[in-house]
Amino acid sequence: MKADVVVLGGGYAGISAAKRLARHPGVRVTLLNPGTDFVERIRLHQYIAGTHRAHRPLRSVLPDTVRIVTATAQVIDARHHHVRTDSGDEIGYDHLVYAPGSHTDDTGIAGAAEHAVSLGTRAEADRARLRLADLPACATVTVIGGGLTGIETAAELAETGAVRVRLVTGELGHSLSAQGRVRARTALAALGVTVVDQVAVTAIAQDKITLADGTVLDADLAITTTAFAPSDLARSSGLEVDAAGAMLVDDTLVSTTSPNIVGAGDAVALGTNPLRMSCQAAVPCGVHAAETVLRVLAGREPKPLRRKYIGQSVSLGRRDALIQFSDLTDRPLPAVLTGRTAALLKEQVCRATLRGGQLGPLRTSWTW
Ligand SMILES: Cc1cc2nc3c(=O)[nH]c(=O)nc-3n(C[C@H](O)[C@H](O)[C@H](O)COP(=O)(O)OP(=O)(O)OC[C@H]3O[C@@H](n4cnc5c(N)ncnc54)[C@H](O)[C@@H]3O)c2cc1C
Repeated sequence: MKADVVVLGGGYAGISAAKRLARHPGVRVTLLNPGTDFVERIRLHQYIAGTHRAHRPLRSVLPDTVRIVTATAQVIDARHHHVRTDSGDEIGYDHLVYAPGSHTDDTGIAGAAEHAVSLGTRAEADRARLRLADLPACATVTVIGGGLTGIETAAELAETGAVRVRLVTGELGHSLSAQGRVRARTALAALGVTVVDQVAVTAIAQDKITLADGTVLDADLAITTTAFAPSDLARSSGLEVDAAGAMLVDDTLVSTTSPNIVGAGDAVALGTNPLRMSCQAAVPCGVHAAETVLRVLAGREPKPLRRKYIGQSVSLGRRDALIQFSDLTDRPLPAVLTGRTAALLKEQVCRATLRGGQLGPLRTSWTW
């Protein structure tokens, strides 16, 4: 008899897990996702700038044997092994892969929910696109947050030439090496982005932004890219979570609440040493979560996850990018690659995210 494995969330972690599971003849895989598209979140800055569609049918990225259910999970009943959806259905499972991802968290800025837009999810990006389309010529867009998403967003919008772009942040590119930060700043300046750094935004109103030092900036549109918050589903389902609401898992990615639930991606937290919310972690963790399930089904001990970070790849418009190399634990090294070669490499990285969990030409797949 086949085992029923339900994958909750059709993002990078979920599709990588589903593809790995679908290679096993003894498993029936069901993927549960609110929409029928796979959203390439790492291209949502391109989506709002009009340089990429950033979505494709989920069916086109999954093997035919994976059953797709289009619905939103509302509660996980870990005791009775089923998920209740917004359409009122109960989907039973032998094992559940929990991968509902994250969304933008701008709760620390007064007025952000009413007056700013963001691009952490497709729905958020749709709102941002509408507001951008309504702006007059030469309007000023203020991107708030100079992490990797903020840098990519500011560069992508500036390169279109349709708006003036300002970036307000604490430390620009805080996760990069000193060389990487210098390179990001130079590239943004070349694209005409005004960087206001070493200061926090405290409030956003309809047409102005207030900084912690009392400065008031006028702005036609504010886009927040400050942080991501994990899905709240684990907390609302009574599973053990960390302070942010991410489902707690052990080093084999098994939930600390239920042995029949594994987790991967932005929505889970690995004990006291969390993984960076990133595709780079979500894809191999999705594969690893699937392998944990397969090992348990075969009566074998699951293996602990070993981090194998390579670096951070940041697009700087369509013609430039910054590849920041790191050690396996995600600490940035001095080495960076920039320019057209880096832009080509970044594009290959974006495409490779869709191949997680499937075997390459040498019948191998990249895992952690
Ligand atoms: C603009 C931008 C650029 C980025 N660039 C990079 C980058 O260059 N490199 C990098 O490593 N990372 C990057 N990231 C971060 C990366 O996108 C995330 O870390 C990654 O998407 C996490 O994968 P995931 O599978 O956990 O979640 P997601 O990709 O968000 O997928 C979660 C899925 O679960 C679904 N879901 C949510 N709730 C439910 C529910 N209740 N029931 C059923 N399904 C549900 C969602 O609809 C979604 O399809 C970027 C993010 C953004 C926004």
